[in-house]
Amino acid sequence: MPDTMKAVRFHGKEDLRFEDIPNPSLPPTHIRLTPAYNGICGTDLHEYSGGPNLCPTTPHPITRETVPLTFGHEFSGIVTEVGPAVPSDANIKPGDRVCVQPIIYDGTCGACKEGYINCCYSNGFVGLSGWGGGLAESCFVPASCVVKLPDNVSLRAGALIEPLAVGWHAVNMSEFEKLDVKNVGVLVTGGGPIGLAVIQALKARGAGKVIVSEISGKRKEFAKDFGADYVLDPTKDDVVARCKELCEGQGVHVAFDCAGVKPGLDAAILATRARGLIVNIAVWEKPVLINVNDLVFKERKYMGIATYQAGDFQAVLSAISEGRMKPEGMITKEISLDKVLKEGFESLLQDKGNLVKVMVQVRPPKDES
Ligand SMILES: [Zn+2]
Repeated sequence: MPDTMKAVRFHGKEDLRFEDIPNPSLPPTHIRLTPAYNGICGTDLHEYSGGPNLCPTTPHPITRETVPLTFGHEFSGIVTEVGPAVPSDANIKPGDRVCVQPIIYDGTCGACKEGYINCCYSNGFVGLSGWGGGLAESCFVPASCVVKLPDNVSLRAGALIEPLAVGWHAVNMSEFEKLDVKNVGVLVTGGGPIGLAVIQALKARGAGKVIVSEISGKRKEFAKDFGADYVLDPTKDDVVARCKELCEGQGVHVAFDCAGVKPGLDAAILATRARGLIVNIAVWEKPVLINVNDLVFKERKYMGIATYQAGDFQAVLSAISEGRMKPEGMITKEISLDKVLKEGFESLLQDKGNLVKVMVQVRPPKDES
């Protein structure tokens, strides 16, 4: 293996570099991969334009690393080496096609002991908190992060499992499946990658009345393509009134807030019927003021969702493998590793409304490029 490799590293606010870094040696409990595809995520953009927020500037409690860090947490790849201390029941060998579930957790805190590793009190992410990331010619991750791809799921789709799993988990946590899914109304605010993930997760479970609120023309089209039954434009439509009209005069049973802007949240609360549920998936840039009485007097519930838990990646992979989800259309642009700053981050920041997922071809094998 060469001594150095190319990587895209985040050094600080508006400082992302494509550079040569030492090829790290493999910790015995980890698995080395050659990344194939890596999607650029809104979280990466937030770190670049306004961070470091999530990326550690003092040593992360688990990885012990600080910025500069290699970016990339939505990725697939090929296994090249398995550390000698990886348990054999991990069942991973060189050549396996995999995707990465990037949660880093300590396994010892109260949240982890209860099984909520996504809420670990020391948690982090591969590609945001250290241990490398997918935007490099090689990387390593803990064995717990590696999930095998079924033979009929492409490496390209494999790099979409992470955002899809966020939507899948949110739908699980909402207990939507306990409702009469064909007939109850659901509102999704925001038609970006996570909004589209929620739409696909709802449709894969038979949802019959998915209402999406989105401003951008291109994202409205995508929402329709992925199965939204009604697409509203909050600059033209009265979202609350339309949701009531479409849902027996009462409003939706569940609203998923994937936009993270105050007008969207206000509408999501008021568009939800008595005892309905508002699920927040968005990461907010700053605190927001809401009228709590709008929850109180209609006994509405408001909950937060953080990433995914054990089983969500496998559920999404099954849905794709069985043809209940076809996510590759989310990719609006593919670029090479050396173009990540200009063609990835900068173009996403300038033209967010027209792009959904920018995919980086890191080192895809010839038969899957
Ligand atoms: Zn923990």
